[in-house]
Amino acid sequence: SDHQLDYPLTPAHMDWSSHYPAFVDPDTSKTTLSGGRKLVKDVEVVDIGCGFGGLLVGLAPLLPDTLMVGMEIRVSVLEFVTSRIKALRLRQQYLKNTSSQDPAPASEPANSPQNGSEAPEDEVGTTTSVVPGNYENISGIRANTMKFLPNFFERHQLSKIFICFPDPHFKARKHKARIVSEYLNAEYAYVLRPGGLLYTITDVEEYHHWILKHFHVSGNEGEDDEEVPSIKDLWERVSEEEVSADPCAQVMACETEESKKVTRNNGNKYVAVFRRKADPEWP
Ligand code: SAM
Repeated sequence: SDHQLDYPLTPAHMDWSSHYPAFVDPDTSKTTLSGGRKLVKDVEVVDIGCGFGGLLVGLAPLLPDTLMVGMEIRVSVLEFVTSRIKALRLRQQYLKNTSSQDPAPASEPANSPQNGSEAPEDEVGTTTSVVPGNYENISGIRANTMKFLPNFFERHQLSKIFICFPDPHFKARKHKARIVSEYLNAEYAYVLRPGGLLYTITDVEEYHHWILKHFHVSGNEGEDDEEVPSIKDLWERVSEEEVSADPCAQVMACETEESKKVTRNNGNKYVAVFRRKADPEWP
């Protein structure tokens, strides 16, 4: 329950130093409001409901200087992500430190979660080359993103948010548990900077339409009064050409554990990316 969830009072209280030790500011006089060490840069990318962390692992070498965090509510799954990243960092360190052809240490953590069927079956990091960034730029954190997102991130702090294969919650009475909603979209718009991107992917066509309905510019469905400002006015859909040229979208479509499962089952993947528009001018 939320009682067991740790979350900072405000983003200025958040101590990220144990998550990104390679990015801790050497100036020890700079501290968070909780007394922790500050980083040299802010976390910019969030994977909402990161599951086993495949997206983070795929993005890490692509954006080696960008700090990214996966947020996950399930304890055992988050533990797996943490162990996975730790193992990848050690492996990279090992590969950096050795020029011999000795086999590198195993890259997967020993403590896989109970539900092994969902855990990544592809061994990540089987490559013997050192990737840029050494996975020091990714981390996982346990959180209920439906409740505490603004506790972690300042207004306009993020440049990208990913929502990959969110739990569909098919029954209408469960729709309030969906992590796409008008209320939550306002929070995403708050933490995402103007020009920032929110990526979505699902294998459930109905959910894809739900996403379009909740993000798309008002007036498009012919049901909104264009005179009335809406949270949807803060978003515009990114064109298919732009999405297909975006390497992050390609990682999203191929590297998450859920996307691999959908590929194996020959399922459909519905992608929609939205750009956060500038805040409207108030009279
Ligand atoms: N994104 C991953 C992927 O594509 O492989 C996992 C998809 S899985 C279907 C959805 C994940 O979202 C689960 O791991 C679940 O525990 C997590 N989740 C659901 N609601 C959440 C919430 N409110 N806060 C954080 N994580 C949540």
